[in-house]
Amino acid sequence: MSNIPIDPAHHDLYRSLGIGVEILKNYSAPAQRQASPAELKMFSTAPDGRSLKATHATVKSWLDLQRSASNAGIVIEVTSAFRSIEYQAQLIKRKLEAGTPLDTILTVSAIPGFSEHHTGEALDLFSPPQAPLITEFEETAAFEWLNQHAANFGFSLSYPRGNTTGFSYEPWHWKFNPQ
Ligand SMILES: [Zn+2]
Repeated sequence: MSNIPIDPAHHDLYRSLGIGVEILKNYSAPAQRQASPAELKMFSTAPDGRSLKATHATVKSWLDLQRSASNAGIVIEVTSAFRSIEYQAQLIKRKLEAGTPLDTILTVSAIPGFSEHHTGEALDLFSPPQAPLITEFEETAAFEWLNQHAANFGFSLSYPRGNTTGFSYEPWHWKFNPQ
């Protein structure tokens, strides 16, 4: 995925967010391909009502994984799946408007075009009743189960501690890797 060039169509979008050439040049995460609508399938609804979509193969493997975990008494749910480049831009725009500096935002939110969520193969997982997207997810039985079994379903942790992508440690972010 690392050789996908930055789409020139995104330059206006970057300019509108104040993301300059220097930031892009020094960004260490690889660009990501955006899944087309035909590649995506809705499989669930997030707690806040957003529809969750992922690629057909990701959905199939995810449902197998979730069923297997459930049989072991482990509850795992998805809070975020496919996100478009446009949605990612809106996410950053809202944080900028709330007064968060761009540098701070970019430590937790990928630059549009660089989020694995564009591929429709990345899922942010959580274990209710614990809140989603917190580091303490690593202390759950669900996280331990994922570490032992997720690979059997084609899923891996994208941003472990000490990863070199420039993203913070994200114990909740798992990606399906098609064979
Ligand atoms: Zn994620």
